[in-house]
Amino acid sequence: MAHQFEVVVVGSGPAGYVAAIKAAQLGKKTAIVEKWVKEDGKTTWGGTCLNVGCIPSKALLESSEKYAQTLHEFDVHGISVKSPKMDVAKMLARKDGIVDQLTGGVAGLLKGNGVTSFEGKGSLKANKVVEVAKHDGTVETIQAENVILAMGSIPVEIPPTPTDGDIIVDSTGALEFSEVPKRLGVIGAGVIGLELGSVWARLGSDVVVLEAMDSFLAAADGAISKDVYKHFNKPGFEIRLGARVTGSTIKGKQVEVTFQDSEGEKTEIFDKLVVAVGRRPYTEGCLSDDSGVKLDERGFIFVDDQCRTTVPGVYAIGDVVRGPMLAHKGSEEGIMVAEIIAGHNAKMNYDAIPSVIYTHPEIAWVGKTEEQLKAEGVDYKAGAFPFAAIGRAMAANDTTGQVKILADAKTDRVLGMHIFGLGASEMIAQGVIALEFASSAEDLQLTCFAHPTLSEAVHEAALAVDNIAIHKV
Ligand code: FAD
Repeated sequence: MAHQFEVVVVGSGPAGYVAAIKAAQLGKKTAIVEKWVKEDGKTTWGGTCLNVGCIPSKALLESSEKYAQTLHEFDVHGISVKSPKMDVAKMLARKDGIVDQLTGGVAGLLKGNGVTSFEGKGSLKANKVVEVAKHDGTVETIQAENVILAMGSIPVEIPPTPTDGDIIVDSTGALEFSEVPKRLGVIGAGVIGLELGSVWARLGSDVVVLEAMDSFLAAADGAISKDVYKHFNKPGFEIRLGARVTGSTIKGKQVEVTFQDSEGEKTEIFDKLVVAVGRRPYTEGCLSDDSGVKLDERGFIFVDDQCRTTVPGVYAIGDVVRGPMLAHKGSEEGIMVAEIIAGHNAKMNYDAIPSVIYTHPEIAWVGKTEEQLKAEGVDYKAGAFPFAAIGRAMAANDTTGQVKILADAKTDRVLGMHIFGLGASEMIAQGVIALEFASSAEDLQLTCFAHPTLSEAVHEAALAVDNIAIHKV
């Protein structure tokens, strides 16, 4: 006999578990299916983000940044620390503890909200039937009124560098190195490559990032990516653009990587190699041929702007559909879909999704870049303000970067905010709110910002949009 539910969610990442909780809160009889088991055989909840993504990477970024500060930054404050050491095993154990706490927390939230859990691989059949292949080999069948597909994504592998889980690894492997690699190669200068490269560079690895594209951080505003490249591309953290990896050979405990750049073929030897060339939607074995759900040409589940698939009553959210592969984008889609199922006409503002790169300093943006506005023929005004002229940044001894704001030349409406600097991940929320509330640059100009704060750079950048910054340099 099939179990009956009003909503069945497949996948418990930040898209799926949030959708399930919201659906249950809106009074729907809800189930969630998760297939991920840890080495101990127990199911783990929270998907990529909590287990091997956002959270563990940020835990390591925090630990490594503290270590780097102890080595390089304390002295200027008059603090001397004798030969600090990094206990990598302890750092990894702290990260694992945070992951356990949060994944356990998700299990508790699902239970507390009355969501029924199924442990095993879910696959969608015709007529909104979800079959769950359990880990003991048995199968359970669920008949759903509504199905939300949230299977997430997996790392892309490239033929020249097949991962071996030891010397050549993906992002998950790079969260687990038991010692600091002397020389670390990273393929891909995207968000994940820069973040994980930073972790190990701060701990002492000599990092070389090989990026096939000639451009750097193409999604970010041009002026910001130029600043970022200049800041990070240094001995110890080299970013080589236009370097297309063509092969790799394991040689004992190292890997020889061959790549092609404008000067011809070159090789580099690394102790570890991280392949961070992107992620792809995961749908293998999750959709039967007669499920009716269609994929787009890039393998994402095809959805409309309210996450409806080609089958009525079947929705898809998160990394498995188009749009930025970000946890908060998936969660917001989950809430929207749960509300639609509950009869509301919910919509999401895809123009106000923030992007953050948690390097030091951080990079964050929301809305349009100057390049996009130019390409779209929008008449715009731009204002920028450097952290070098912000008292709080000086007090923190951290004056790198700037805030840049773009506004419509006629309506004054804020169209984009771009930040490179200490605390950018927190400050960008001001840009998100400005976009969401359709603020003008003048609204930000007339707002009182606390002094001394880093956010004063947001205020001054808004003033700079009309060339009236007070602390103009
Ligand atoms: P996922 O989190 O991938 O979850 C999908 C879940 O579905 C998994 O648990 C999977 O086991 C399960 N599943 C799949 N198929 C089935 C099936 N058939 N049956 C049952 N269960 C199934 N994003 C940010 O916003 N901020 C960050 O700082 C950030 N840092 C990152 C760092 C790294 C190293 C990585 C790899 C990613 C990072 N991301 C970050 C991206 C973020 O993790 C993803 O965008 C997010 O996890 C996507 O959520 P999701 O729910 O769509 O999918």
